[in-house]
Amino acid sequence: MAREPQFDIPKLEHDAVVPRVREGAMQHSKPFVAKPEHQEPLGFPGALVENWKDVALEKMDELRGKYRSLQVFLDICVKCGACTDKCHYYLGTGDPKNMPVARQDLLRKVYRRYFTFTGKYLPRLVGATDLTLDVLEDWYRYYHQCSECRRCSVYCPYGIDTAEITMAGREILDSVGLGQKYANEIIGKVHKIGNNLGLPQPALADTLEGLEEEVKEDTGADVRFPLDETGAEVLLVTPSADFFAEPHVDGLIGYAKVFHQAGIRWTLSSYASEAANFGIFIGSYENMQKVAQRIRDAALELGVRRIVVGECGHAWRVAYSFWNTLIGPFDFLDPAYPAPQHVCELTHDLIQRGALRFNKEANDHRVVTFHDSCNVSRASRMGDMPGGQFRIPREILRSCCNHFYDMPADTICEGTYCCGGGGGLLTDDLVELRVKGALPRMEALKRVVDEHGVTHMAAICAICKSQFSKVLPYYGFEMDMVVSLHQLVGDALDLSASAQQ
Ligand code: SF4
Ligand code: SF4
Repeated sequence: MAREPQFDIPKLEHDAVVPRVREGAMQHSKPFVAKPEHQEPLGFPGALVENWKDVALEKMDELRGKYRSLQVFLDICVKCGACTDKCHYYLGTGDPKNMPVARQDLLRKVYRRYFTFTGKYLPRLVGATDLTLDVLEDWYRYYHQCSECRRCSVYCPYGIDTAEITMAGREILDSVGLGQKYANEIIGKVHKIGNNLGLPQPALADTLEGLEEEVKEDTGADVRFPLDETGAEVLLVTPSADFFAEPHVDGLIGYAKVFHQAGIRWTLSSYASEAANFGIFIGSYENMQKVAQRIRDAALELGVRRIVVGECGHAWRVAYSFWNTLIGPFDFLDPAYPAPQHVCELTHDLIQRGALRFNKEANDHRVVTFHDSCNVSRASRMGDMPGGQFRIPREILRSCCNHFYDMPADTICEGTYCCGGGGGLLTDDLVELRVKGALPRMEALKRVVDEHGVTHMAAICAICKSQFSKVLPYYGFEMDMVVSLHQLVGDALDLSASAQQ
């Protein structure tokens, strides 16, 4: 059970209700600031620099020159208001600074003051603001109340992407020495040890050996969890939560069963034992590149022909949208397969080819719905058809479950709500924000629970799984209601000797 909360928990309504504006409702919410030992290894100042104002403005100037989209987004908003009620953090908190347009304006007002003619000479006319310490603190608070989920951009007639503005805001904050502890500490662990958890090779090897024994006991099959096997066909990179956390590990067991039944030789890498890439959350190209580079190096070292990415929303976004630029080209991989390939694409392809045998009744005690991860839905794709990222997971679920129901149409696929813990916010110092930001998803879930008796919600993102495990009890649901999609696959796979023939 969740511990006794120190804040009010929003009431679940049958349909999402746009809240009344509550000025300053989340003014108190801010994550722990990174210490020098978390900042410096990433190339950032250890603490707030003396000339922070000059540094911040220089960084803003650099970023608007480097990212044309940022400059355009800062210039073109017409204040139409279409985005105001689209952010789960606004819906859950009522704080007007959590309206996407207001979040953008925190940066836009300063941009206008220092980089536009009217802002310099007639600041009041265009709502331009001086950069003060109060403004800097507001940036720190409210750019850590955005999960970079991009839902608002779907409804903006100009396609303004608040996530990019948030990333720029965080990049500026890091440049003056005001980084976020949770994200920066984790990036440091990946640079040093290879995964978000700081799990060293021997511990990983032990864990995988334990999983082999567990699956043997459960199924009688010799399903392998190979580590550092040179010459394997597939390198699987997956979020490190898959190695031990519930319900993530059941997903890893599911991938292993798929590889086993399809007869694909695969391996994990102890050097690149992490798919997650928090570099994207802080908007740092350099850190994102450095984290991703481990995966290319491991693939070359192990001599694999394919790279498959496990269930992790933002990792897939980085892999699908940025790997080619960050660590490509992938001319050493087999051109017959997507590079990189999502584990759902792999499983779906095997299902299409009749290579997997299911006993769907094994999941008959579950009535399942599916939560689309924001990063998969709005920042990537799967397969070679538009909307493949929505169709492929659902087709897999229908292949292995008899009882599947979608949540309301405006809360799934492109319009999906973030779980409330994405974008580097999955930390206990932000639990109030996480609980309140989960409200729209919880309301949609309640609809299918009431109407169809849904018992489980499948997800393909490590952050979503951890976040839901934490927040579901606050809304009266069981924490184990969230499951890995590949757990349902693995539970239904028929691994009996006759099925292997
Ligand atoms: S990107 Fe997502 S979290 Fe950020 S303002 Fe838009 S809807 Fe809210
Ligand atoms: S929908 Fe787009 S143009 Fe309209 S207020 Fe929001 S960001 Fe500005």
